[in-house]
Amino acid sequence: MINYFNQTLEGIMNSRRTIAKERAQSDYNAILAAHPDLKEKIKIKKSLELEIARNTALKKSCDEASSRLNETDKEISDYIKANNIKFAVAYTCPLCKDTGYKDKKPCECLLKEYNSLIRKNLSLTPLPGFTYKDNTFATNGAPQAEGMNKLYSKMQIVFNKFYSTRYSNFLLCGASGVGKTSLALAIANDLLDKNVSVLYLTSFELVNIFLDKHTHKDTALRQLYNYVLECEMLIVDNLGTEPVYKNVTVEYLLSTLEKRLGENKKTMLITQLNAPQLVGRYGETLIKKFADKKYSISVGYIEGKDLRNL
Ligand SMILES: [Zn+2]
Repeated sequence: MINYFNQTLEGIMNSRRTIAKERAQSDYNAILAAHPDLKEKIKIKKSLELEIARNTALKKSCDEASSRLNETDKEISDYIKANNIKFAVAYTCPLCKDTGYKDKKPCECLLKEYNSLIRKNLSLTPLPGFTYKDNTFATNGAPQAEGMNKLYSKMQIVFNKFYSTRYSNFLLCGASGVGKTSLALAIANDLLDKNVSVLYLTSFELVNIFLDKHTHKDTALRQLYNYVLECEMLIVDNLGTEPVYKNVTVEYLLSTLEKRLGENKKTMLITQLNAPQLVGRYGETLIKKFADKKYSISVGYIEGKDLRNL
């Protein structure tokens, strides 16, 4: 779990505890209303406690009051037992009593909320729920089918070890419509199932986030800049179609990629540009560093049929 959603999650748990407390109070009031004898005994208990506190403060003896308090406590507990009264607090999650943690580990209920947050933040526009199983390369007869099938297998193996793989960077180059985005979506949807925070952006959206950050514009997009850095898996699609703003596009892209690499965050760039075009547009430093074999998987240019026209 990343810290980005901490405040939101704390807020959810806090309000659950408040609701549980309010519910407990109203249950308690209802029980007392139904049992006037119990209500009376509790009133006596409270006044005895007050008396003891007063006597203690005045350094007077509390013996009599204490023994009456013991008696009253016993009467109360006998009454509760005899009438089978239960003062249970109705927590939303009894497992963690709405704290979100159990044995210092995130509780299932917290993970569920976390998962719904990372899904909500997956992208700026609704994405299709494409999965590994939905790819049709085994049967569609496209010229890139064999290569894409191999790529699907390789990516599944790598991303099954998301937190232990040495690969941080992924570069998918290929012609339009050969199936790059679908593969990325399958990876994204699989990772979401495993509570990995994934952010999918087009390069156009990403550069707009950079621009708002650069110009200190207080927009919802700019708020997303921290998530661009913090999310565990960033997918940038259509790299090369975004506008190139001086001092922004290349500079922010470079610093973002470096920061993410430095923290072992995974980044996938998807583009229709080939290697020389990428170097021409973003410079050799950025491309060489991103695609270093030590921590990168770069898929050479995928050619084939546009699947949308099959
Ligand atoms: Zn819980």
